[in-house]
Amino acid sequence: MTRTSTLPPDYHCHTHLCKHAEGEPIDYARAALAKGITEIACTEHAPAPEPFTPGIRMALDEFPLYCEWVEAARALEGITVLLGIEADYYDGCEAFLEEWLDTHPFDYVLGSVHFLRYERERDHAVTPIWTGDDPASTWAAYFARIQLLVKTGLYDVVAHLDLPKRFGPAPDPQIVEAVVKPALDAIADAQMGIEINTSGFIHGPSEPYPSLSILTWANERGIPISFGSDSHQPERMGGHFEQAVKLAEMAGYQQRASYRQRQRVMHPLTEAPD
Ligand SMILES: [Zn+2]
Ligand SMILES: [Zn+2]
Repeated sequence: MTRTSTLPPDYHCHTHLCKHAEGEPIDYARAALAKGITEIACTEHAPAPEPFTPGIRMALDEFPLYCEWVEAARALEGITVLLGIEADYYDGCEAFLEEWLDTHPFDYVLGSVHFLRYERERDHAVTPIWTGDDPASTWAAYFARIQLLVKTGLYDVVAHLDLPKRFGPAPDPQIVEAVVKPALDAIADAQMGIEINTSGFIHGPSEPYPSLSILTWANERGIPISFGSDSHQPERMGGHFEQAVKLAEMAGYQQRASYRQRQRVMHPLTEAPD
């Protein structure tokens, strides 16, 4: 019988194919296993068929190599390695992603908003999330993008939901509530999940994405959670997962999700080792 870890699976890690991370899936799998984590999803930044921020994602022709690497990591004993991807939502991404996501055997597809605008006709220019505007308009614009992401129906889980807090101060709590709750309603309606992304602990917010109050609203809406370290170095696998599990419990969660071939299965939040 497989030993069950008290730590949840780590469903968010990268490789050096994205040009801003280190290592290959087997390095992340080994590091996770060393911390007692028995399941991971590799979620490299998805390629694009056009010059959409090519400096921070794998190239389209590198994807077969990525799949080979994930396969090689599966040879490691004692750990399940899933084929995942972190795919950006950006203007006009649907035509490519609809077909591409469908024709590869993904277990888990994260949807992310990393940019507010993409203008292919203006030399593929992108607008960052934080442009020095006031927090209220930044959060409103970002969460409007999240709603568009959800509407596509292309993704399983929304990544790092309150990402704008990485780049600047959050707006007043009433504004947060006014822009976040409708996005959570849309996520719940679409039967999607969210991740508790622990990279917030090292980025500066000193808490995961999303915050405890957002997690609480998510739980009230029955939105399932998974856990991700968003590791760009293997040694970060499972980082701050104990705190993340505690926050999930504080938000009222009793279960977490796992995925196989994009189908969700629910598990008790903390499973004792055999
Ligand atoms: Zn990255
Ligand atoms: Zn991301």
